[in-house]
Amino acid sequence: MIVMKFGGTSVESAAAIERVAAIVKARADDHPIVVVSAMGKTTNKLLAIANSAISGKREDFIRQIHDLRDFHSREARRVVPLAHRAELDRTLDDHFQEMTELVKGIAVLGELTPRSIDAISSYIVSLAFEHFGLPAVHLDSRRVIITDRRHTQAAPIFPETYKRLAETIPLLAEHKVVVMGGFIASTEDGVTSTLGRGGSDFTASIVGAGINAKEIQIWTDVDGMLTADPTIFEGGHRVKTISFEEAAELAYFGAKVLHPSTVIPAIERNIPVLILNSRKPEIAGTRIVSESVHCENVVKSIACKRRITLVNVHSTRMFMAHGFLRRIFEIFDRHETSVDMVATSEVSVSLTIDNTAQAARICKELSDFSSVEMEPDQSIVCLVGENIRYTPGVAARVFGALRDMNIRMISQGASLLNLSIVVAEKDLRHAVASLHAEFFSELDPAVFG
Ligand code: ADP
Ligand code: MG
Repeated sequence: MIVMKFGGTSVESAAAIERVAAIVKARADDHPIVVVSAMGKTTNKLLAIANSAISGKREDFIRQIHDLRDFHSREARRVVPLAHRAELDRTLDDHFQEMTELVKGIAVLGELTPRSIDAISSYIVSLAFEHFGLPAVHLDSRRVIITDRRHTQAAPIFPETYKRLAETIPLLAEHKVVVMGGFIASTEDGVTSTLGRGGSDFTASIVGAGINAKEIQIWTDVDGMLTADPTIFEGGHRVKTISFEEAAELAYFGAKVLHPSTVIPAIERNIPVLILNSRKPEIAGTRIVSESVHCENVVKSIACKRRITLVNVHSTRMFMAHGFLRRIFEIFDRHETSVDMVATSEVSVSLTIDNTAQAARICKELSDFSSVEMEPDQSIVCLVGENIRYTPGVAARVFGALRDMNIRMISQGASLLNLSIVVAEKDLRHAVASLHAEFFSELDPAVFG
């Protein structure tokens, strides 16, 4: 069995779903389990609906829900066989009726709880597969992915989930392609819950681990993990093989193609993860493996985390008093704000945060015993590669490549496979282009495509 996960862009329209059907059909002998995200940008649309509801714009959210239903109905009709139309309409009605009730609830409670529509897109995909001659069965993820009760950031209860997956899926997958929605799950007492960010990738990885899949394939809209974020730098190369540690580090520092928590269940069971392009299925993509990968280049890829805030905390005494750092971190911790990078000197601490929801409160508490400056519009640029730890002079090359730029902070992560710097957002593109030229002018053909 293999797990194939298709992201929003891979199922954004009827034409995209048809491509997906062809990709899955070509791999039918491997008994695929297909995990599907919400179609296209519908997750963002759900958030917009929730926002309208919270601001009491009743007409707006009713219209938005209506539009969303129309969109699903229109695209689905093009790929769902006639015989299943009535069933499709009924399911869409039920789903959007439930959504309308839920959103009205949001309007009353004033609380943002958009629920996944990955369930509906996976259902449409399963019907479409039938239409394209691929026997398929839809499995409600809530039957098999079991989480704790934390609201939108629920964590899986692995033993129960693995047990259910192993009991349910192999039987279903014997003669049909199993199709499941990503992101959505349920608590042990049957209440719908949703996995946190990167939810669908996480679902794919959990399913893969639960059924001991031969491989987990993450199908998306890029050729694989690239040497730089393509939204910031266009000339990146495909990385053919990368280690789990490197991939997790890249993901943590912004390589949105894969969410960090995703790879954990797969690593634990030593299941390879592939990143592949659903528009160019013939390209071999990126293989993420548990062992390290020999590479002549010191850096494998450059990740970026945008819109972060640099916080400079100066001790109001001449030198850092005993317990100063503990007091600082205790405040960030209490406000559930995680810190990505830290650098200290005798009298000050600089650190970066990406979630500024609690920044004002944090600032106020820090001001009780220090002076604080917050600088928004910064970015972290993170070089990742296992060879960084064995290669002297990497920092010197970074400073050389960026000599005309103000580097605000630099740090080598404890994992020893990254080296990160902070630059102003306005310098980001230039910084990435310069670093890419410095580290990827020659490429190890065994690793880069
Ligand atoms: P999906 O909807 O398929 O889950 P995502 O948008 O989550 O897709 O992830 C794919 C995107 O990740 C790409 O379109 C690309 O813009 C972004 N990305 C960021 N960094 C990288 C990188 N180093 N390599 C490849 N893609 C990257
Ligand atoms: Mg994604």
